Amino acid sequence: MKFASLGSGSNGNSTVVKTESTCIMIDCGFSLKQSISRLKYLDLKGDDLDAILVTHEHSDHWIGVMPLAVKYRIPVFLTVGSRRAIKYDSTNLFRMIENYDKFTIGDLSISPVPIPHDAAEPIQFIVKSKTVCFGVLTDLGHVTKYLIERYKLCDGLLLEANYDKNMLSSGPYPLSLKRRIDSKWGHLGNDQVAEFFNTINHQRIQHLLFGHISEKNNSPDKIKESIKKTSIDTNIIQFACQDKISGWLHLH
Ligand SMILES: [Zn+2]
Ligand SMILES: [Zn+2]
Repeated sequence: MKFASLGSGSNGNSTVVKTESTCIMIDCGFSLKQSISRLKYLDLKGDDLDAILVTHEHSDHWIGVMPLAVKYRIPVFLTVGSRRAIKYDSTNLFRMIENYDKFTIGDLSISPVPIPHDAAEPIQFIVKSKTVCFGVLTDLGHVTKYLIERYKLCDGLLLEANYDKNMLSSGPYPLSLKRRIDSKWGHLGNDQVAEFFNTINHQRIQHLLFGHISEKNNSPDKIKESIKKTSIDTNIIQFACQDKISGWLHLH
């Protein structure tokens, strides 16, 4: 299995996961043109996608989903809450995720995981092949015991590191937005990320890609500084950015 970020941040998120026979996209916060050109960078076309999974209705995850899905007739998996929250006419492309039940796409087993975030029914995904397991965990205000239990066995992880507390509090955002980001239903800060790695056994993680990094309230250096306090191996770390595709990260 391999995965790549097509871009990550408050202006658009999208992740692609691929095995020999199956290729899925998680979220699409980019225009159709951008999505196609970013896929091309990974040697993929819209036709190659077997499904698009949606985490929640915020536009940085959702805005590009339907243009891509409609053009290439790709099924779109989403929760009932997300379906209600988006303004989109009925279409036979929607596949409802119910009761957080596991489902299968090709040779991938997908587990939806509910997360604490200020959207209608937000989830993230753990994607398993026969041999390895990849998790996406962004857009959450705090890490729950349940999440630690679910994500502790991932071989690859795309994890949110949205803000540095000091940069956020002294930064340019209005107070209401600062409070939202820092709340239990907002985004994950560097301190929380460090705490997460002190709690889980991260020995089996082969690639750790930090994502949803705020351009105003965080930096890769600040993230590195925070995780210094943990025993995480810095050689496995990469940083996803808004305007760059990460390139494939292979898990075996
Ligand atoms: Zn987001
Ligand atoms: Zn969000």
